[in-house]
Amino acid sequence: MSNLRDLYQELVLDHSKAPRNFHALENASGDAQGFNPLCGDQVHVWVQLEGDQVKDVSFTGNGCAISKASASMMTQAVKGKSKAETQALFTAFHRLVTGAGEDPEALGKLAVFAGVSEFPVRVKCASLAWHTLKAALDGANAPVSTE
Ligand code: ZN
Repeated sequence: MSNLRDLYQELVLDHSKAPRNFHALENASGDAQGFNPLCGDQVHVWVQLEGDQVKDVSFTGNGCAISKASASMMTQAVKGKSKAETQALFTAFHRLVTGAGEDPEALGKLAVFAGVSEFPVRVKCASLAWHTLKAALDGANAPVSTE
């Protein structure tokens, strides 16, 4: 567990300092904005679909290290996945960060966010980008709020 915690700190630091896929997306199939008023995190997620597959995904935003790192790692995790696979991963991720007993093995690198379940306030930081991605995939235009 301490290894996982070290890895968590390392990855959160790395991805929050140098977020991946951190830009707007031209030719996006959908996009959505999310806001977590508890922490002040803001995120804008773009997704480009090819058929049922997430061909490309990107984000921009401002927020705490956890929200940024989570969004960054999310874009890496869902690129190339189908909508159903993306939804399944979101469900698993949400179970992980809320301490619902998800097996971290099923989540690959995202397993490092298991520690977030110890800090309920941070759950919304970690899941904001995922909620926003879901809205972008669903084609929702209303901004997403974690409240
Ligand atoms: Zn936050």
